[in-house]
Parts: sequence; C-alpha cells; structure tokens
Amino acid sequence: MNLKDLIRDVPDFPEPGILFKDITPLLKAPAAFRYVIDRFADHYRNRPVDVILGIEARGFLFAAPLALQLGKPLVPVRKKGKLPFTTHSVEYALEYGEAAVEVHTDAVAPGERVLLVDDVLATGGTLAAGAQLIEAVGGQVAGLAVLIELVDLHGRDLLGSHDLLSLVQYP
Ligand code: AMP
Repeated sequence: MNLKDLIRDVPDFPEPGILFKDITPLLKAPAAFRYVIDRFADHYRNRPVDVILGIEARGFLFAAPLALQLGKPLVPVRKKGKLPFTTHSVEYALEYGEAAVEVHTDAVAPGERVLLVDDVLATGGTLAAGAQLIEAVGGQVAGLAVLIELVDLHGRDLLGSHDLLSLVQYP
C-alpha cells in the first residue's frame, strides 16, 4: 500500500511557503483508510493504552475509528472555546500562526495512559501541547501517533522521550 500516492501536496496553503499535506484522497479510498487504522491498531493493541485522544480536526478522523477498533474511550482535544464543560488550556506555536488547545477537566482519570492521534507532525507544537494537557489533567502520555511526519521540521525533538509512531515520512 503506497500511502504517498493518496496524499496530495498543496503548495502555499493556508499561507505562502507552506506545503500542505492533503489527506482527503486517502479518506476517499476505503482500503487505504482501513489500512491506516489497522496499522495504528496493530501497533497499539498490545501496548498499555487506556484512552485514545484525537486532536481537532483531522486527528479526529483517525482517532475515532482507532478507538472503536481497539475498544477504548475516545477523548477530543479542541481549539479554544469549542468544548462546553470546564477545560484545561495550553497555548502553543503552529507551523503557521498560534493557537490554544483545550480538553475537558474530566476527560482523563488520574493515571490513565493516553494515546494522542493527529494527521500531521510538523513542528511538534500541537502534539507537545496535547501531551502537556494530558499531564495537566493527571494522565500519562502512552504514545503519539500520526499518519504523516515532516522530518525536516524536527517535531520529534520537541516531544522528548514519548513514543512516536508515524506511518509516512517526508521528504
Ligand atoms: P505542528 O504543531 O507544527 O506539528 O503542526 C501540526 C498540526 O498542524 C496538525 O494538526 C496538522 O493538521 C497541521 N499541519 C501543520 N503543518 C501541516 C502541513 N504541512 N500539512 C497539513 N497539515 C499541517
């Protein structure tokens, strides 16, 4: 399965200089989408994970089917102002712009082991903020899973010793 054939490069989106990795062709290919979820599930099935956490918005697309496949609870991390209950919040820098992410204060029980899922690892700021959030609510980061890793941006370096799985690496 060559996943790169189903990931489209869109230059200068959403800003000049950004080469956007568009996963919509992959989402339209059920066999490939299934393959991605199976790869994540195979990797984590026998590892200690209690909760699957999806990062808004494209992280949800992978976290939700993975949570169902593994039979684990699903927790959303959302951009500021979207979650209705009491939240913890962390601000961070993006490859383009700045943002804050939030999670419900009751999303994770103390000591629970959380797998964070997103589509792309770029500078690592988003996943690092997600990891900080989990620790702020008393959870433990069990691992980080992304479809795509942009290796030249060295996002891994920001993520310390957390276990990181990426299925496709660029360049
Ligand atoms: P970062 O925090 O820099 O690791 O950026 C990762 C987040 O921004 C992910 O949630 C991605 O969805 C999005 N993102 C960053 N860079 C790109 C890119 N080149 N193509 C697609 N999505 C990106």
